[in-house]
Amino acid sequence: MPEGRRRPGRKPGSGPRHDATAKDNRRPRDAGPEGRRPDGRAAVDPPPPPASRPTDESGLPTATVLVKAKRARPFFGRHPWVLDTAIERVDGTPADGDVVDLATHEGRFIARGIWNASSRLRVRLYGFDASVAIDAPFFAARIRGAVALRRALGLDDRTGAARLVNSEGDDLSGLIVDRYGDHLAVQVTSLAMAGRLDAICDALEETVKPAGILLRGADRGLSKLEGLHLPDRVVRGTAPEGPVFIREGKLSFGVDLTEGQKTGFYLDQRDNRRAAALLARDRRVLDLFCYSGGFAVTCAVAGGAKSVLAVDGSAKATALARANADFNGAANVTVETADAFERIDALSASGEKFGMVILDPPKFARSRGAIDEALRAYHRINRVGLDLLEPGGILVTCSCSGSVSRDDFLEMLSAVSQRAGRQIAMLECRGAAPDHPVSASCLEGEYLKCVIARVA
Ligand code: SAH
Repeated sequence: MPEGRRRPGRKPGSGPRHDATAKDNRRPRDAGPEGRRPDGRAAVDPPPPPASRPTDESGLPTATVLVKAKRARPFFGRHPWVLDTAIERVDGTPADGDVVDLATHEGRFIARGIWNASSRLRVRLYGFDASVAIDAPFFAARIRGAVALRRALGLDDRTGAARLVNSEGDDLSGLIVDRYGDHLAVQVTSLAMAGRLDAICDALEETVKPAGILLRGADRGLSKLEGLHLPDRVVRGTAPEGPVFIREGKLSFGVDLTEGQKTGFYLDQRDNRRAAALLARDRRVLDLFCYSGGFAVTCAVAGGAKSVLAVDGSAKATALARANADFNGAANVTVETADAFERIDALSASGEKFGMVILDPPKFARSRGAIDEALRAYHRINRVGLDLLEPGGILVTCSCSGSVSRDDFLEMLSAVSQRAGRQIAMLECRGAAPDHPVSASCLEGEYLKCVIARVA
């Protein structure tokens, strides 16, 4: 199919219409929200929806969603999330997963997206052109574009790993695709993408030619929010036997694609590991929350650290970290399974000192309401982290809580500096690696902060 195949548009805001290409076993298109035709006559009783309704393949809208007056601006600015509270009314009766048009309260076309009545995020927008259908070729073109960007970034080496699709950052809200060598791990967080999984896998197979595509644990909370239940499974090809080994620079990491955290590895930290390692030479390094040893091994081998103590609370994670340290010949890495908070308190109490402390905790704030609590937790570990640093030591401190802003995080660091009476000189304020693009229209996609600082 040609890229960006165009379909004849229709007058925006003209309400639902029957489309000849739509499947005819579905409820009448001209039935209004109350099952009445626009002319007031009762509509024919719609057939009961099938248990698992196939997604309409035409990619054309079945309804028009009108936004409230004064609520349209973000969508003209290409923000892809239409919350239920922004909606004035719906002309038509879209089923979950249907393509709908978004229009101003006066009926002017804004964008085209996908409807999900089970989510507060009622419509996810994918297109901003009334003449383009949101169909399989449309998504295939988006996927080809995303893959081409990674090629341009030099991240297409089949022995390595990269994020090929980063949800809103690639205009594919609710879809994440990570490539680990010859395998793809797909994470779906929107019903819109779940209903199009087949088309997406077709496009991925055509573009990337993987040995297998695995569906990996959508964040459970998100799945609940979207009314999604997608168990992990192999969707195409075969699963790897045992861990997949991927290269990061001169190092190799074993990745557990079926049980690992995230989709298996923290690809977002790739460049931050390298940046930290550049400052690790001859230092004694503490890698707190080490997962499979990404920072620890990079600092030990590529960075020439004197020694590394790597700590994680998960025994599965520390087993991976130990294996990765051994695999890369990093004999000076000690791995411990322990609660990070207890472990740093103990290290601090015994007066231990390090030349570099890396803090990469899990998401502390899962929602906006939890920001204060999260900031207190960040303050606490950073405060103790500073105690453990010798004068002139390097602090590598991260936050992956999207709801904690960069400003909040820096203010927390400022407060820590004041409390400890030590200057924190920031050398770098980093984010996620460039294969995790963030849409300027959807800054909610910016979550990772990584500050590298020298502490006096
Ligand atoms: N730095 C890692 C990613 C860390 S993710 C990398 O680059 O790959 C956060 C880690 O914190 C997870 O591995 C999780 O198991 C661990 N974790 C969560 N709570 C913890 C706790 N209380 N104590 C120790 N580790 C914890």
